[in-house]
Amino acid sequence: MTGTTLFDLLERLTSLMRMWNRQHPLLAELQSIQVSALIYLSRCNRYSNTPLAVTEYLGLTKGTVSQSLKALEAKGLIEKSQDPRDRRSVHLRLTEPAQALVAAITPPDFLVTALAQMGERAEQLEALLGDLLRQIQRNQDVPGFGLCRTCRFHQQRDGQPFCGLTGETMTTPDIELICREHQPPEAA
Ligand code: SF4
Repeated sequence: MTGTTLFDLLERLTSLMRMWNRQHPLLAELQSIQVSALIYLSRCNRYSNTPLAVTEYLGLTKGTVSQSLKALEAKGLIEKSQDPRDRRSVHLRLTEPAQALVAAITPPDFLVTALAQMGERAEQLEALLGDLLRQIQRNQDVPGFGLCRTCRFHQQRDGQPFCGLTGETMTTPDIELICREHQPPEAA
């Protein structure tokens, strides 16, 4: 297997996603990088909602991401707050209008429809794509940005989710979020 066909498929799916974003009436005022930043911030946990984490996740330059975040703030779609324990650190959160916007556009209808039509094979596909992403991340030594519940530091204490890395209790919704510090169980 050379990977050419899979690469073509991923390229085509990415193009369709971009095209869909450009054409969506709710996204007419936003650049695609701004949409990506909003979607990421809607899916990441409290350790991962900093400007640096957005930059790492999107794989773009600090300057480009900084301009996009400023534009989102000016549009009233994100707000900043200082970290109570580290005043040099800033956290970004979606405002209510931004939360409503992201909820209205994700996951896109065309994806939901296609996955429903695929039935059980959609679950297999999701698992296989997850394997592919983890394999690539291991090989390339890039930040994890994985789901909390799949992390090697994820534990249960007194019936509550608990992060073994930060030593903090998590909530049940937290474990479905993306974390910058995520490490796969295989790395233990
Ligand atoms: S358990 Fe892992 S993924 Fe979850 S918050 Fe801790 S480091 Fe992040």
